[in-house]
Amino acid sequence: MSLSSSSIDILISEVGPRDGLQSIDPIMTTAAKKQWISALAAAGLQEIEVGSFVSAKRVPQLADTGEIVLHAKQIPGLTVAVLVANLRGAEAAIAAGADKITVPLSISETHSLRNVGRNHAQMLEEVAAIAALIRAQPDSRRPKLEGGLSTAFGCTLEGRIAAPQVVDIAERLMMAGCDEVGLSDTTGYANPKQVLELTHAVRRAVGSENLTGIHLHNTRGQGLANVMAALEAGLTTIDASLAGIGGCPFAPGASGNIVTEDLVFLLESMGLRTGIHFERLWQARRVLRENLPREVELYGFTADAGLPLGFVPATPQ
Ligand code: ZN
Repeated sequence: MSLSSSSIDILISEVGPRDGLQSIDPIMTTAAKKQWISALAAAGLQEIEVGSFVSAKRVPQLADTGEIVLHAKQIPGLTVAVLVANLRGAEAAIAAGADKITVPLSISETHSLRNVGRNHAQMLEEVAAIAALIRAQPDSRRPKLEGGLSTAFGCTLEGRIAAPQVVDIAERLMMAGCDEVGLSDTTGYANPKQVLELTHAVRRAVGSENLTGIHLHNTRGQGLANVMAALEAGLTTIDASLAGIGGCPFAPGASGNIVTEDLVFLLESMGLRTGIHFERLWQARRVLRENLPREVELYGFTADAGLPLGFVPATPQ
């Protein structure tokens, strides 16, 4: 996506309240989620994926997404993003006033069938219906629609995913009416060379302006190396979750998304402005710690080690 503010170089899209929380069993209270999201926004995060409109029976942790969106919408300047799997979810997202809707489509058709019970043709039809619904809204209620290229770097069921398959689905998502597509390493399989090559291939096919973001997991410790490749390929939006919470549904015991705190340190130390204030970021981490059961592990090196002596972030603090 295009940057919402010219005062930053890289947009960090915080996905902790959705991707992080969804694989944590103990339900976080609605009040705690609101407090956490407010703390994230106060730290300078400008885009937060606050939940998903999926079956409350399937993901009870995110059953209160409607109320969470209403809360997040009151925070000035925040892009409120949600995940949806179908038209019904998109209707709920639009009714709640979400600014951005991501519909994931698994490049692995086996994964798609297993996960949402739909093949590629059916998913693309669903995306087209969502795009039509969005076009029918008045300007002020029209969210941006992103097609998520899930399992783009490999699948736990199919194994290797060929780049032309990803390019093909990216093109079809754009034709179905998406405003943009995003690459997603759902399974934590990606390596930097693959990130560089696949990003270039998809951008050549759909246009650079239509692929600006990537969603990475740190399952095998390659998260920040993959970020470096994404930056080299020209991407400007990186998903991350505070404290890297959540794990990976396909790798029991593994850590989750790349860690927001470490990503901010990486970018700021290289002179790239994220708009994020470190002290307030630590405060958001404390809010998260207080609201999660003790046994849920928080990840990240920078929060533990502290900032280096004499460190000057690119973003004015
Ligand atoms: Zn994820």
